[in-house]
Amino acid sequence: MRLFRPGFVGGCLYPDSIFRIKTAEKLLFLSFDDGPDPTSTPLLLDILDKHNVRAQFFCTGRKAEMHPVLINQILNSGHQIGNHGYDHLDGWKTDSVTYFNDITRASGLTSDRILRPPYGRITYNQKKLLKSYKLIFWDLMAYDFDTTFAGESCLKVLINKIRPGSIIVLHDTPSSCANLILDEFLSFATSEGYRFELINSA
Ligand SMILES: [Zn+2]
Repeated sequence: MRLFRPGFVGGCLYPDSIFRIKTAEKLLFLSFDDGPDPTSTPLLLDILDKHNVRAQFFCTGRKAEMHPVLINQILNSGHQIGNHGYDHLDGWKTDSVTYFNDITRASGLTSDRILRPPYGRITYNQKKLLKSYKLIFWDLMAYDFDTTFAGESCLKVLINKIRPGSIIVLHDTPSSCANLILDEFLSFATSEGYRFELINSA
């Protein structure tokens, strides 16, 4: 599995953060937030393995600490772990020092290189304090965590919205429909000529 580091597309709010990978190739970047979880993680790993697809798992430090065996299974299957904070704090509602300490507390359990800020938001000062991290956001969310939004609808969002370089966020939680739609989505994307890569965390 090669790690992909072409130019990336930044956002206006966070210019040096990654929202989508700039590429003309049919490449997709799959990520799962909020795990690991003893119910959902094994299901996701099985489906990913079946399709030989690697993904990035942005785990909270608290759950990583509770489920070290799952963390090892994720890594042993060739996936990457990213930092999603220890307690999933909302940067916009948390002072910068508390936020920095929370991310740092999670770093040894998850990653000290790649960070997905919970809720996709972080203040300028927090970002400055955490400048050693590469911030990875997303450009495609399927609302798989929304229990009022049926699995079929999530699948439709993914199928209709993927484009070369998309960073897709799904959730590694029992209430997410990700494990119900992943198999069909990966079959579809592959049949359309898409390949899945990891974002280089160097
Ligand atoms: Zn999250």
